[in-house]
Amino acid sequence: MAKYDYDLFVIGAGSGGVRAGRLAALSGAKVGMAEEHRVGGTCVIRGCVPKKFMVYASEFANQTQVAEGYGWSVGEAQFDWKRFLEAKDREIARLSGIYVTNLSNAGVEIVHAKARLKDAHTIELVGKGEVTADKILIATGGRPWTPTEFAGAEHIITSEEAFHLPELPKRIMIAGGGYIAVEFAGIFAGLGVDTTLVYRGPNILRGFDDDIRSHVTEEMKKRGVKIMLGCQHQSIEKTASGLVSHMDGCGNIETDVVMFATGRRPYVEGLGLETAGVALNDAGAIAVDKFSKTNVDNIWAVGDVTDRINLTPVAIREGAAFAQTEFYNNPTTFDHDMVASAVFSQPPVGSVGLSEADARHLHGKVDIYLSRFRPMKTTFYGGDERCMIKLVVEAGTEKILGCHVVGPDSPEIIQMAAIALKMGVTKPQWDSTCAVHPTLAEELVTMRDKYVPQGAAA
Ligand code: NDP
Repeated sequence: MAKYDYDLFVIGAGSGGVRAGRLAALSGAKVGMAEEHRVGGTCVIRGCVPKKFMVYASEFANQTQVAEGYGWSVGEAQFDWKRFLEAKDREIARLSGIYVTNLSNAGVEIVHAKARLKDAHTIELVGKGEVTADKILIATGGRPWTPTEFAGAEHIITSEEAFHLPELPKRIMIAGGGYIAVEFAGIFAGLGVDTTLVYRGPNILRGFDDDIRSHVTEEMKKRGVKIMLGCQHQSIEKTASGLVSHMDGCGNIETDVVMFATGRRPYVEGLGLETAGVALNDAGAIAVDKFSKTNVDNIWAVGDVTDRINLTPVAIREGAAFAQTEFYNNPTTFDHDMVASAVFSQPPVGSVGLSEADARHLHGKVDIYLSRFRPMKTTFYGGDERCMIKLVVEAGTEKILGCHVVGPDSPEIIQMAAIALKMGVTKPQWDSTCAVHPTLAEELVTMRDKYVPQGAAA
């Protein structure tokens, strides 16, 4: 008789857990999986996927203006928030259903319950009894975090509620300067909401290349987002007409909704980690080695709960590497270097590798190639949207250390650039690639002159 109920029990049916559980089951292992919400996790249910639908929905406002410039007569466009939400929820339900089907077809048993470790091999499924497993994988993701220390903080919503607002507000304030704040500011502004982004620092998108940050700021302002820097909430006051944010640095601003996008934290609460002896790191994430193993020999963790690179495709690769190692006798680690990412701001950003500042810090002398230009689609109708492309190149070796693009389709473009950078491409090799004309991306391979910022000595 088997010693345990399962060979593998996965806690969390998001991107990382689903990939790992499915692969393990396909190897012949007996796999169980607990999920307290819907199968699909943050990305499918309340993250990347619904967010991208909202980006698509909001872009039409700009596109109708462009269409006019191309000779179309566009009548008064109307947006129906409720109709959009219904369509979005239908699609999310469909996708979640596909996840369930794929898991079931692979033989994974899904239990809808909160899971809590009782010891290193025993999992309590709250309200549904206990199971035992030889190996356990924790893939519980993250949850939005907001400050709570000021008066009126209870009025804050996060991205989770933003996906289900009963009606589209007339005015919204978004606090934060990271991925989520910038993406949702573009979404709401595109949908016609009077949108104010307030950020505590001097420039949004900290961690990205500085030229990208300032370029995105200027382009977002052109699209109508009010961006206020150096603002810190002191309190939020509910009045008869809305919510007044009282802020240090930015005065008082009244809006209908105040959304905070001030980061996400690993979701470890109530998991019984202490009971099983699983250690956290200083950031409150589950500490793992390069094989995603925790300090407990039969327990692993992947995805945002480990706070390495908090992106869906990374969680998937970590989950796949775990399954390869443990169930296919093929020790595999995921290389977290040169992972590309996109910010679905409007216009969007695609980025891979080092920012100029990080490259100078790590590699000393670097050469910069930078181009700002109006794409041909925009010049045709006299629009003033500008794209930006920047390459960061190590002096001497001419290895490309970073590639950053702001403009339409930049998330698509960066996927291809990431392949070359991952392979260690040099600038001469890059430049030997013939351009595809007429495209925005051709500018990537036609930048010959090193960039010297205005006012700097050549
Ligand atoms: P981020 O960590 O990207 O940004 C958090 C923002 O909140 C920062 O601007 C930070 O400021 C600010 N902040 C933090 N604490 C406070 C505070 N007490 N008061 C005011 N502002 C504060 O988190 P997000 O919530 O935007 O996104 C979470 C994660 O989700 C991201 O790291 C990303 O990995 C992932 N994600 C990825 C997406 C994509 O790939 N397109 C889309 C959405 C999310 P400061 O910079 O000064 O620290």
